[in-house]
Amino acid sequence: MGVSTLYRLMSLSGSSMVFRAPTNLGVIISGEKVIVIDTGYGDDKARRLLKELKSLNKQVIAIINTHCHADHIDGNKYLVKRTGAKVFAPAKEISYIENPELYMRTFFNQARPWFPKGTKFMTAKPSKVDQKLAEGEFEINNITLRILDLPGHSFGQIGILTEDKVLYMGDAVFTKEILNKYPLVFYIDIDSLMTSFSKILKCDAEIFVPGHGEILTREELEDTIDYYKEKIEGINQAILDLLKHSAGISEIITRLCKRLNVPHTFEQYYLAKTIISAHLSWLVNHGFIEIELRNYDLIFKLSKK
Ligand SMILES: [Zn+2]
Repeated sequence: MGVSTLYRLMSLSGSSMVFRAPTNLGVIISGEKVIVIDTGYGDDKARRLLKELKSLNKQVIAIINTHCHADHIDGNKYLVKRTGAKVFAPAKEISYIENPELYMRTFFNQARPWFPKGTKFMTAKPSKVDQKLAEGEFEINNITLRILDLPGHSFGQIGILTEDKVLYMGDAVFTKEILNKYPLVFYIDIDSLMTSFSKILKCDAEIFVPGHGEILTREELEDTIDYYKEKIEGINQAILDLLKHSAGISEIITRLCKRLNVPHTFEQYYLAKTIISAHLSWLVNHGFIEIELRNYDLIFKLSKK
């Protein structure tokens, strides 16, 4: 369907809209009231959204966060302060939204993070969540939404399906443009991601809004998910190829990132380590590789069977 214009409200179907800032923020209109899905990174994005909504005499009464990542939640604080909106989020993401430092610590095995000089890791401002969301129907201001659990990109991510058959997917699916641009995209659990893909394909939506990039029709979504699955399988295969000789995680990271041409930065290193760990976990749990403790180091090798 194409990419919407930056900082302009675009109608998708009925009362379901999108505002690209540049994260795709959902906007659901109910009379004078508005529900916002995700709030972008940096106060200026939330400010632009609020200005646009005010010019239409709309009032933000609720914010729903799809997941805890900074580019989806950082504007919460700004919007809540100026509108008094209530914040709703999936139960498993709340601790991270309220304590972004805790989320940052997931990249450091819970230890206090060390950041080399010049590291620009995106961190959100903490914001309070008023109510947790569970899978199923959720009614607010005469609008009925369906909440879908879509984990895989993050631990407890959700999607929001509107009565207009629009599904706001958070980062459950990345568009082809993003999959082509970044050699590694972020996910933490490949089995969960696959289950989420199936759920998205089965749901009663016609328009699919990813967290970033172009809005997708059903046909485009099917094509995109196939493409994404191929990319994931390609990385699994690349790891199996390089494990013809057993290797520790550092060596696997180095060799895979070199092969994929991952940018050589601290941020990319931390992200890559998590993404590659998700692949190693999948390959171990599905019996393709085995782990051995050797000289206080975890060594991965191909399974004998
Ligand atoms: Zn994300």
